[in-house]
Amino acid sequence: MTDDPKNMSCAEFQAQLPELIGTGADISAHPHIQSCELCRALLADLETIAEAARQLFPIVEPPDELWEHIESAIQQEKDSSHSG
Ligand SMILES: [Zn+2]
Repeated sequence: MTDDPKNMSCAEFQAQLPELIGTGADISAHPHIQSCELCRALLADLETIAEAARQLFPIVEPPDELWEHIESAIQQEKDSSHSG
């Protein structure tokens, strides 16, 4: 068993990297990163790519107005079905 993160190989660390990023962990504080220049450089590259991706694909939330339009449209449907 290689539970000690300091003794893990670069391949083992890099295999865990997507999971670490996914959990939002502070990867720069990881013992392997602290002791491995290679993986520090890799992480820096990944962060640059991630930052570029955020700028290319910003998260656009639907404006409240849109939902108000949808709600009023549904309301009108209901009202028209009552008459008759
Ligand atoms: Zn490494």
